[in-house]
Parts: sequence; C-alpha cells; structure tokens
Amino acid sequence: MTGIVDRNTVCSVKWCDEKGRHTVHRRYLASVPGGMSGAGLVGVNLAQRVQPRASVCVELTVTTPWAATAGFLLAVTAAPEIAAALTEAAERATHLG
Ligand SMILES: [Zn+2]
Repeated sequence: MTGIVDRNTVCSVKWCDEKGRHTVHRRYLASVPGGMSGAGLVGVNLAQRVQPRASVCVELTVTTPWAATAGFLLAVTAAPEIAAALTEAAERATHLG
C-alpha cells in the first residue's frame, strides 16, 4: 500500500523511532509536562510523512487526559519564530504575575 510502512518491514529511515505500521516517520525529541498543574504533555518531534519528496518537519503534539492527542506539523523555517514567541510570552506572563 502506498504511503504506509508495513508492520512487517523494518523502517528504512535510520532516524525514525516509529515501530510497526506508520504513515509518518517520527523521532521523539522532547516530552514536557507543560500543562497547568502538570496536566498533559507537550511533545516535540521530527516528522516526515511517508510519501515521495515529503520534507522533514518539526511536529508539536499535545496530549491530555481528556482528549485525543493533537499534532501539528510546523514548517521548519517557522519553528524558531514560534519558539521565540513562546519565550517572549512566558517572560511577559511572568512580569504580569
Ligand atoms: Zn519510519
């Protein structure tokens, strides 16, 4: 089947952490308990769809006890800008107390 790595084949992408059948190659980089009161996890991954000429992206995931995990593929060029915006927002929130 096109676009899916079969469960019985070893993934040929060396950096991929996914096992079994998957439609996205993924390397898990960070998992931060980032929600209020420690609820939920924010994950940062490298991700690449299993399809010809797909580029490697930065993936942000949010996992909570009350909803399905949400994932979002960021353009690589946008990731540093988003990281800077998060840092600035955190600094402002700290000052506002
Ligand atoms: Zn893979």
